[in-house]
Amino acid sequence: MQFSYSQNYQTVEEVDTICSQLGFASDEDAQLAVDRILKQIGLPSKGFTLKSCPNINNAVAKNIKGSNGKYHRYILYDNQFMSRIENSANTDWSAISILAHEIGHHLIGHSLNNEGSNHTYELEADYWSGWALAKLGASLTEAQSAIQSLRYEKATSTHPAKKDRLLEIEKGWDDGGGIINQMELGIYSQAQLESKGFRFSGENREMVTINGEYGPVKIEAFIGSESNTDDFMYKKEKLDLSNYKGGFIKNGFLNGLVLLEANGTQKIEKQNILLYFVNGKVAYPYIDTYIDGSNPSNFLGVQEGNVSYGCIYIGNWSNEDKDICKELKQIYGDDIFSSDFINNFGKGNIDTKLIEAQFKDFIRSINQIPLDSWNKK
Ligand SMILES: [Zn+2]
Repeated sequence: MQFSYSQNYQTVEEVDTICSQLGFASDEDAQLAVDRILKQIGLPSKGFTLKSCPNINNAVAKNIKGSNGKYHRYILYDNQFMSRIENSANTDWSAISILAHEIGHHLIGHSLNNEGSNHTYELEADYWSGWALAKLGASLTEAQSAIQSLRYEKATSTHPAKKDRLLEIEKGWDDGGGIINQMELGIYSQAQLESKGFRFSGENREMVTINGEYGPVKIEAFIGSESNTDDFMYKKEKLDLSNYKGGFIKNGFLNGLVLLEANGTQKIEKQNILLYFVNGKVAYPYIDTYIDGSNPSNFLGVQEGNVSYGCIYIGNWSNEDKDICKELKQIYGDDIFSSDFINNFGKGNIDTKLIEAQFKDFIRSINQIPLDSWNKK
């Protein structure tokens, strides 16, 4: 979606000529989508002219002069481009969000001067599309799907970085009253997880601040004894050098499915751990593997709370039949016992998003339980 104003159409006749030469047909779906957006925000549907214009590989908001000298608000869009976005994002919302973005450019007044794109304009239009899509009932993921499907990540001269655009959509979506689809985000309460067989420690363990993808967060000091005499079990020194990937922050606590590199000033061996947090508390069982030290990294272990044991030690033994190991397979997907997964897990190279999808599939069956009311961050 390299939205731009750089097409050189200056008059309605030029647009008609160029676009019709290329054989566009007015697209009823696009018109319906625009009407829907305008209706939702209380604007008449006549304010914009939509034209499908092939091969611009883009959507463009432009004020174009008619033969009577009056300017018309045009949204030019490339049908193929739109369907490509739709296919890759796998939702109608992506196309609607593109149109909303262009309407945003018009309504904010960016198209009046027909200048090229710039970061401020783009972020404002992104904010507007997030706001409009919340009004239309899209989830945050749906509102972000078009931008999410873009392959470029970094800022260019005309367009801001993907993460900034996603954030702006989120802000607009929040302000537009968007309702978080908790199941979709993979957010579960302690009660929900317990109903699926997860357990939480009853102890009030000390909290430790760790760092990671979204900055400092608090988690409970959950690492037990690593040797026969360990003065630091359940102490923050077992985790104070840890790093996390994935999850989200609520009130300063880490939540959700997380890949944790567990390390601390008093930790004997570093470990990679895949686990779910609720308000910084650990949902057991979780799986782990050693990163260095005397234990091999092709070892997949399970921590159930007070009990820990191995499921797989590649080349030596497999406890895959153990009920709990089978259960983990159900939770995290069939691949977790493969040597590839275990090796990559040991290196911290696992795709948390993919694992999260498996996790969500597993948890989905508990959605009959009322969800706690969660606020993001
Ligand atoms: Zn734009």
